[in-house]
Amino acid sequence: MEDCLFCKIAANLVPADKVFENDELLVFKDIYPAAPVHFLIIPKVHISTLSDCRGRDTGMLGRMLALVPLLTAGHGCEVKMEVDGSRSGGFKTLINTGPDGGQEIYHLHMHVIGGGRIRGAMKVETAALQQQA
Ligand code: AMP
Ligand code: ZN
Repeated sequence: MEDCLFCKIAANLVPADKVFENDELLVFKDIYPAAPVHFLIIPKVHISTLSDCRGRDTGMLGRMLALVPLLTAGHGCEVKMEVDGSRSGGFKTLINTGPDGGQEIYHLHMHVIGGGRIRGAMKVETAALQQQA
């Protein structure tokens, strides 16, 4: 097995607060939640980054995304239509990829963050960009 924290969680060698599991995917709570709801969805097989995914991974990636509305609805984060026609609720999905994407754990994972207004996760380190220009 890869010397990988999330592979160890998938193999039950490291504990995690699991939310959902099937043969292909595992969902568990982020240990340092950025909001009241913060899940990580991972494939059970080791794929380091989204940058490593190819056409063969299309089904798995689609099933990761398709899981999101089920998970969020179960935790009160679905988008709701208010009586005045405005929308409330919602969540953010995020896949950090590689050093520039802020990835810290090199096993593909999708963050699902909700339960409050989420701001700032897309912030780019503009100082670094200006230096490159
Ligand atoms: P990323 O920066 O996208 O690689 O995010 C990695 C995420 O994994 C961070 O939000 C961490 O809080 C989370 N994390 C690290 N170790 C654990 C763990 N043992 N159980 C659950 N989440 C973890
Ligand atoms: Zn892994």
